[in-house]
Amino acid sequence: MGISSCKPERPQKEDIRLSELHTISGFRTVSDEAATVLAGMLPFFTGHGWYRKYLHRFRHEDTPECSTCPNLDEDSEHVLFKCLRYRDAVGTVSPPEGMVTFMLEGEDNWRNISHLIIGIQRDLRRCKKERRIMKIA
Ligand SMILES: [Zn+2]
Repeated sequence: MGISSCKPERPQKEDIRLSELHTISGFRTVSDEAATVLAGMLPFFTGHGWYRKYLHRFRHEDTPECSTCPNLDEDSEHVLFKCLRYRDAVGTVSPPEGMVTFMLEGEDNWRNISHLIIGIQRDLRRCKKERRIMKIA
C-alpha cells in the first residue's frame, strides 16, 4: 500500500476542513493559495488528523496502534518519520526538529514535504473509510 498514486499538486477540497482554512486565513500575510496548502497540512502539525491515536481518543478507533507497526501508536510523527508503511514514499525527510527549517529553505522543499504530508493524510483517511466499511460488513 502506498501513496504514490495520490500525490496532489495542491490540497483538494476533501483534504481541508473548513475550520482549518478559516484559522489559516486569519493570517492575512499569506495568499489564498498558501492558506489552502497550510490548511491541508494543519492536521499533521496539530496531530488532529486521521491518525489512529487521535481518533482513538474519541473512540473512533479500537486501538491507537499503527496497523503496520506493532506496539507503536499512529500519530503524525510516527507516520512521517517511523512508519514502515510510508518508508518508501517518505525516503529521507529531515528530522522533526529541522523539518520546518528545511521547508523554508526552498520552494521545492516546501512543495515536496507538503505534498508528502497531504498524500499521507489522504491515504490515512482512505484506510479509515475501508476499516469502517469492513466493520459494517
Ligand atoms: Zn506504522
